[in-house]
Amino acid sequence: MTSQAKDAVLLHVCCGPCAVYPHRALTAEGLRPTGFFFNPNIQPSREHRRRLKTLEAYASRSGLPLVVAPGYRPEAHLAVTIEKAWDRPRRCRACYELRFTETAREAASQGYQAFTSTLLVSPYQLHDEVRLAGELAAATTGGKVSFLYRDFRPGWPEGVAASREMGLYRQPYCGCLWSETERYGG
Ligand code: SF4
Repeated sequence: MTSQAKDAVLLHVCCGPCAVYPHRALTAEGLRPTGFFFNPNIQPSREHRRRLKTLEAYASRSGLPLVVAPGYRPEAHLAVTIEKAWDRPRRCRACYELRFTETAREAASQGYQAFTSTLLVSPYQLHDEVRLAGELAAATTGGKVSFLYRDFRPGWPEGVAASREMGLYRQPYCGCLWSETERYGG
């Protein structure tokens, strides 16, 4: 089985702009993050492609190694949120669990001891739910992988400023069709 060094951490990345500060903070701690992009919550496909391209551009210029889960599977997100569409806490909880369970599985299969997420930087996410979902996902690996909790939120302004300086695309809604409708009205 593949085995990673102790300082290696798999960083679930929701998008390029949100990657900036956690990447810096983890590196400053002496850790070596590798980005992992698995976000079937980003809808529609054109938006998913645009955010991935933005992340790839950031990864390339910043030296962040990046693993991209193959394919685009919005049905995976729709399946776990369709019953909770307009109930944001329940919907987002399911969304975090979906993304983190896959991240934990990838981390375990690649020999990482820990994973974390860029969702922990955003003041717009349900921070406590993000943490809980990360811990639940780690538990599914039977102790192989732990969730590395960090409160990256104090670095949000720095990340926003840096992403603007780099000219990274900053999306106007969280990702799913429900959040797009909440942003623009239905
Ligand atoms: S609002 Fe964001 S976190 Fe919540 S379900 Fe939609 S994409 Fe996921």
